[in-house]
Amino acid sequence: MCGIVGYVGNKDVIPILLEGLHSLEYRGYDSSGIAIHEGKNLSVIKSAGKISKLEELLLKSRNGNGKYCGIGHTRWATHGEPTDNNAHPHFDSDEKIAVVHNGIIRNYLEVKDSLIKKGIKFASDTDTEVIVQLVSSCFKETGSILSAIRQAVVMLEGSYALGIIFKDEPGKIYGVRKESPLVIGVGETENYLASDSPALSQFVDRIIRLGDGEIVELSKEKIELYNFDGKKINKQAQPVEKSKDIMDKKGYKHYLAKEISEQAEVVLHLLNDYLPSPKKSVKLDCLNFSKDFLDNIDRILILACGTAYHAGLVGKHVIENITAKPVEVQLASEFLNTKALLTKKSLVIGISQSGETADTIAAVKKALDTGATLLGITNRPDSALADLAKDHLIISHAGLEVSVCATKTFIAQMTVLYLFALYVAESLGKEDKKIFLLKQELRMVPQLIDQTITRGERYQEQVLKYADKPDFVFIGRGINYPIALEAALKLKELSYIHASGYAAGEMKHGPIAVLDPDVPVVSIVVPGDAYDRVFQNSIEAKARQAPMIAVAVDGDKKVESVFNTVLHIPPIIEILSPFLTVIPMQFLAYYIAEHLGCDIDQPRNLAKSVTVE
Ligand code: GLU
Repeated sequence: MCGIVGYVGNKDVIPILLEGLHSLEYRGYDSSGIAIHEGKNLSVIKSAGKISKLEELLLKSRNGNGKYCGIGHTRWATHGEPTDNNAHPHFDSDEKIAVVHNGIIRNYLEVKDSLIKKGIKFASDTDTEVIVQLVSSCFKETGSILSAIRQAVVMLEGSYALGIIFKDEPGKIYGVRKESPLVIGVGETENYLASDSPALSQFVDRIIRLGDGEIVELSKEKIELYNFDGKKINKQAQPVEKSKDIMDKKGYKHYLAKEISEQAEVVLHLLNDYLPSPKKSVKLDCLNFSKDFLDNIDRILILACGTAYHAGLVGKHVIENITAKPVEVQLASEFLNTKALLTKKSLVIGISQSGETADTIAAVKKALDTGATLLGITNRPDSALADLAKDHLIISHAGLEVSVCATKTFIAQMTVLYLFALYVAESLGKEDKKIFLLKQELRMVPQLIDQTITRGERYQEQVLKYADKPDFVFIGRGINYPIALEAALKLKELSYIHASGYAAGEMKHGPIAVLDPDVPVVSIVVPGDAYDRVFQNSIEAKARQAPMIAVAVDGDKKVESVFNTVLHIPPIIEILSPFLTVIPMQFLAYYIAEHLGCDIDQPRNLAKSVTVE
């Protein structure tokens, strides 16, 4: 999931690499490092920890002038602990070639063994080091770095984006791509390399996306592209999308708090774009489905990971409820190990905030191989998922989400799925009263979200009583079961407290065994079909002495009489309730984590964009 950056030109390379790394830090922050040409030397400076650590190191040891070519890396460790030693760039044993890598080398143990047999000594525990040692060993046979790279990639299995710099070729950088993304920034007498285009938009106006199985040789004047067979290729540069989003906490202590507070606006924006009035049909011009296709869909399969998977589970309820089409939701990583029972009549919906989630991309590709049709939902128009889903793509328009934990993009994904369900229902001619009422109620949601968010401080007071508990259980049923899962995920991600989300009815089939006075149970018990049963399951939990917290609507006396703490939300119809029930859950996780002194916007071990399988 790492971020790669590279620069060659006439400017000082260190500040450019650091700026690039900062914009890629969302991809991982276990360690960072750079490799730069300094006169005849190739120097590597790297450190475990966030980029600020590397900056401190560079301030002490480098004046920042006179170096015009280098590569940088911010790491999310897959192989080897997040130590100084395992930080990228990695040198070969002769310290002539340095490599930064995003991805995983699946056959690294085999390659490592064969290199060790040749007498090569390894300095790190990473899979990445085998790449640089292999290129180095091939270089000794070929005498050309480009041929050495080409020889090496044939022996590597897995996914990789690479930045390579060679001591004897000052002023040159090589980039290599297999699956993991890599983009070239095209400048005037300078060129750049990066894992994504937003990292380059501050430097250049044009980019070239490196394709799968391509190599680039960059100097300040030239961009030479080759495929893995060594054949030269030509590619046109395209304009880079300039982001209007500014990194600003707007007075909030954390990006997470700011992003929670933006949720009403996000939903309103989507509704204004696609459903300006309940009297009109949902307008999704970004979709090109024929009525015939929609009529004959045999199966809808939603593929996603983490929070996006939870949005997918909410989407299943809504789509099934109003279109009567069968929907299944699968974790993208699991789909990779199951039979893809899809046909040309199947619709696959891939959801990924970043559009680069490796599991989702791989799953979607597998689904496409069956002839199924793809709908992509992402927050990033400039992403792998957006590329794959060109014909049917909905951008969730949540704006930049800086905090690693997803909040406003979750609510945006849900909104898109509601709109999509309405679009299908209306395209199929189901313009009945139920649809109209749902659209009417949906238009009210932004206001209700706003009212719920203003209760944040009250929630804070209520939940901090439980901040010392080592374990939490969240329960819900039906459309709020995914919210129980999302609530548990948020608490784990932000506070590192162990938490599980269960379908309320499942408690008695096992999980109830974990309950005692130290394990709070948080029940989502809002009016609707699931109410009585969740209430009943909560009573069973209470009988096991668990402290009981409810998410319930204002004025619910029955809930108030039984639960120790009630996190109130404004009244709302059950089918739309996830928009509100998730908010006290986000606050619960946030305030407990903040109380415990956790790193809110960059929790340990996580990365915003999960670009390894
Ligand atoms: N596999 C490499 C490492 O562990 C790169 C990881 C990544 O791209 O996430 O250092």
